[in-house]
Parts: sequence; C-alpha cells; structure tokens
Amino acid sequence: MVNSCTVTAEADKDALRLIRRISRRNPRARLVVTGCLADRDRKALSEAAPGALVVGNADKGRIAEFIGLSVQPSSHVRGLAGRSRALVKVQDGCDGACSYCVVPRVRRENSSKPLAELAAEVSGLVRTGHAEVVLCGIRLGRYAGEDVSGESADLARALQELCRLPGDFRLRLSSLEVAELSDRLLDAAAASGGRVCPSFHLPLQSGSDAVLKRMNRPYDSTFYARRLEALRGRLPRAAVFTDIMTGFPGETEAEFRESLEFVKAQGLRGLHVFRYSRRPGTPAASLTEQVPPEVILDRARELRGLDLELRTAFAASAVGQMRRVAATEGVDEGAGRDALAEDFLTVRLGADPGPGLHEVRVTSSDGPRAFGV
Ligand code: SF4
Repeated sequence: MVNSCTVTAEADKDALRLIRRISRRNPRARLVVTGCLADRDRKALSEAAPGALVVGNADKGRIAEFIGLSVQPSSHVRGLAGRSRALVKVQDGCDGACSYCVVPRVRRENSSKPLAELAAEVSGLVRTGHAEVVLCGIRLGRYAGEDVSGESADLARALQELCRLPGDFRLRLSSLEVAELSDRLLDAAAASGGRVCPSFHLPLQSGSDAVLKRMNRPYDSTFYARRLEALRGRLPRAAVFTDIMTGFPGETEAEFRESLEFVKAQGLRGLHVFRYSRRPGTPAASLTEQVPPEVILDRARELRGLDLELRTAFAASAVGQMRRVAATEGVDEGAGRDALAEDFLTVRLGADPGPGLHEVRVTSSDGPRAFGV
C-alpha cells in the first residue's frame, strides 16, 4: 500500500517512481495507492501501475473492505514497536488560500480527533512505552476536537487535558501556523512544566512582506516577529525552527536578500529550505514571472548555508548543559545512537539509552552535531 503525497512536483515523481518499481518487481502483488496524489491525478497513477487499485483520501477508511478484508478500520495508533517517539494525527485538512499550495485542493475539510479519543490514544501510547508523543496536523493550530459534552476544544485545551495524563512522557507540537500561535496556546505550553516540549516549528516561507503578500500568507514579517517575542516571553528556552521557500514567482534578488536578513535576525535554530514547486491549479502556477531554476538553486544553497550556521551555533550553545532525551529511530552501527532533546537538539550518545526519557549532559559539539553522555 502506497500513501502518496503531492505537495511538490518532486513528491509526485517519487510516488510514481515507487509504484512503477513495486509493480515491476512484484508483478503478482496487489497494489493499493491512496493519498493526495490519488485525489489530484488518478490518471497518472493508473498509467504508472495499471493493475493498482487507486483510492482517494475520502475512501481511505474503506480500503480493507475494497480488498476483501474484514477488519475494523481505526485511526487509533496503539503503539510502534521499539520506538520511543510516536506521532499522533489529531487534525486534518486546510481551507487556506496560500497561492502556491495544492493542499486545500486535495484536503480541504477541517476535521479533528475528538478529545476523549485523543486522550485515550496518548494514554495507550504512554502505557506501551512511548516517551514522546508528537501531535500532528496539516493545520494543527486549528484543532477543534469535540469534548464529551459536545463542545469544541481547541489545541490549548487539548494540551491542558493531555498534560494531566499519568506517566513520564512529553508532548511535542509539529508544525504550527504563526497566526495560530495564540496566547492561550503559549500559556498552556508554559504552564505544562516542561511536559510540552519547548520547540516550535513555525513556517515563515519568506521574510519579505511583498512576497508574503503574493503568497497570500495571512501575516507579515512584523506580525511573525511579534509572535516570536510573545513566545520567548513565556518560554525563554524555546527553540524555533522555520520553513522557508526560495524562488516563489517574481521573487527578486532584493526580496530574497530582505528575506534572508529577516531570517538572520529572528534567533532561529534551524531552517527547512524548500524550492518553489509549481503546482497545477494553484494561483501561483499561472504567474508568468517564474524564477529560473538555477537562481532558485543558488538561493536555496545560500539558505542551507545559513541553516548549517544556525544548527552549528545551536549545538555549540548546548555544550555543558543538561537535556532530557528520547532515542530516535535511526541506528548508526558502531557510531552511537541519536536522541532528541526537548528543544529538538539531536544529541549523539555512545550507546542506545533504551526506552523512556533520559537526562544527559551535552559534552561537545562538532558542526551541527552535539555529543552527550
Ligand atoms: S496554511 Fe497555506 S501552506 Fe499550509 S496547508 Fe494551508 S494553504 Fe497550504
């Protein structure tokens, strides 16, 4: 079963390549393809693997039925064997209007996991040994799960409830839109006594107001900077990361420089750099001033250089300090084991610390890598 993504042209290509390879190597296997590419371009999938069953997102819950299995579908994750960290999808869908983004065309409807169901899922994961639970959603800040009385609970309320669950565990928020980083949410995180990890991923996309406007992002750089101030006012140790896009149509050299300077001034700990990808059907796809690919590449390279600098400074600043870490999934034979700290710093340890949360001291760093015992 392949769950496809269509957020960039690269994601489309990866999905098509994968299903071609699967059907070539396993001609007798039954192949099911679902996910956002199945909604956006069913024809491309059927051409790549003519025998595949292509199922759109709306019918994902019926895949077992379609292939003749009698299992009860559930969105409840019970545990991921051998992992300290678990991801829980609490929200789906975005009806935003960012001009480059294809997501609202394939996953428009906002839906949230009911609060009691979410609490039961997190409890179960903690009981099965997961020390860190990451709450995920396309628009996580729009979480609006029903509580038992039928009232809608926002993300701040969900955090308050989840933080009361027993066990030694912590919660982490995945990517959040800065406009949804409310004071209520920050208060809930600050009052959690460290149970909510002080690490935030707040997509910026561009630090140039003119570009943000063309992207139809619902904030400007001043608003972004003010929300960072509000965050640091309540959670001074919080580490902030961002997404930044290069080569949005019409992005001039001056706008790119403006964006770069803004990013440098925000005290961020790392960047996820994306190259603009033209998505059919989005308003930005029809803009005529597309930036040449080699310019996009150069700008991305420059931003990645900045990312390396930021991560190097982050690792160096942690030397001599204590962190609470959870082992990550990757195993590096002979080279030790990576573990993730509350502020999203990756600390390499000499050996696998085992399940749970562990106090470690960061002893040294080398470039973006921190080492600890
Ligand atoms: S907020 Fe904008 S970028 Fe994010 S999923 Fe919605 S439309 Fe896409």
